[in-house]
Amino acid sequence: MFLPTTADRYHISTWGGEFTDPTTERAYREHVEQSTAKSLIVALRVWAALVVLFGFLDFLALGFSEGFIHLISTRVLSASLLLLLAWRLRTKPQLSTEGYAVTALEVVGFFLFFLIYIIRPDIVSWNIGVTLIILISLYIFVPNRVVLSNIGAAFGIAGTIYCIALRDVAPTLLVGLTFVLLFPAIIGYAAGLRLQTGQRQQYALFNETVRVNQSLQEEIKRREHLELELKLQATTDPLTGLFNRRQYESLFQRELDRVRRHASALSLCVVDLDHFKKINDEHGHDVGDQVLKHVSRLFVDTLRNTDIVGRFGGEEFILLLPDTDLRCAVQVLNRLRERLHSSLVPVEGLSIQLTATFAVTEVSKQDEGIEDVIRRADRALYDGKKAGRNCVVAS
Ligand code: GH3
Ligand code: MG
Ligand code: MG
Repeated sequence: MFLPTTADRYHISTWGGEFTDPTTERAYREHVEQSTAKSLIVALRVWAALVVLFGFLDFLALGFSEGFIHLISTRVLSASLLLLLAWRLRTKPQLSTEGYAVTALEVVGFFLFFLIYIIRPDIVSWNIGVTLIILISLYIFVPNRVVLSNIGAAFGIAGTIYCIALRDVAPTLLVGLTFVLLFPAIIGYAAGLRLQTGQRQQYALFNETVRVNQSLQEEIKRREHLELELKLQATTDPLTGLFNRRQYESLFQRELDRVRRHASALSLCVVDLDHFKKINDEHGHDVGDQVLKHVSRLFVDTLRNTDIVGRFGGEEFILLLPDTDLRCAVQVLNRLRERLHSSLVPVEGLSIQLTATFAVTEVSKQDEGIEDVIRRADRALYDGKKAGRNCVVAS
């Protein structure tokens, strides 16, 4: 699929002052629709007010004559059309950015304005002066696409020349007049083009900033996710999600410090699943893995949030029970043992019964580190296995 580059997407035509990419131009117009409609409404109202106010000058010159009635009628008609468009823009703001309606009004407005040349030949030079102001306002005061403003201006210039030509003036005068009229149109066009191009450049810059900001946000999120993932990988066992050796050893150290400083109780238990090899042999290694996951979940769900559950290796687990002395630990572990014994593990359509031997010991201030404590628990574990398994042995 062809995807335009940023430069292509935001390319602005030199003479039209619009994005050459239709999608970008459409998006830009939608973006400025509301604000353009608002300025156009103001421009149309001012324009309508001026059209009617100039009727006062007609009255002063013509009095309440037939000519005045014709003129004031066309003025009221022009003003009504202007106000009608202003009213329509409130519900259809897109009319302002499309530019066709306002261009049509410019043409109609000029057409009605030309009637003044016929009804009031006394003020031709005054009219030409007003036309010069109208031409420049067309580009600067009325928000319209500069290309369409050209159409309005071209009609205004051609019509004015035609109206003057009807009066049998010398061709040289007409040529001179054409230059005079072209002058404000060219200035207006240059100013309008600059304004229009500048607004679009600003829009392109704004869009790029938003896009870069978005991709930056996405990158931050991706990195945060990655960081979390790495942290998880560094601290947990991939199969069971339990703390790995490195993590529970460092957590143990923190708890040991608490024991030493606050004389709080801490118990450590080594759990070894009974006859686990048989499960692997009978049902396969994958079933064995599922059982390990299930048992891990059961341990985590049954114990307190503050308890630490780690995978010691193979089918052996380490449980750290803070604020728990040996007597309480034995009670807690017996509950856990019974729960494991009574719950059948559902794996791949099988219901596997499982027991474990729990060897528990209380951590004392004199213990140098986790190795001392585990060694003590291991001896108890050996006793438990010898005594027939599925039991809690304290040492
Ligand atoms: P005992 O009651 O004496 O502890 O018997 P046991 O069969 O559990 O003891 P043993 O230590 O001889 O066997 C442990 C078995 O655990 C051996 C190994 O196949 C299995 N095992 C260790 N790690 C994993 C693992 O990650 N996944 C699976 N499926 N099996 C494992
Ligand atoms: Mg073992
Ligand atoms: Mg075992």
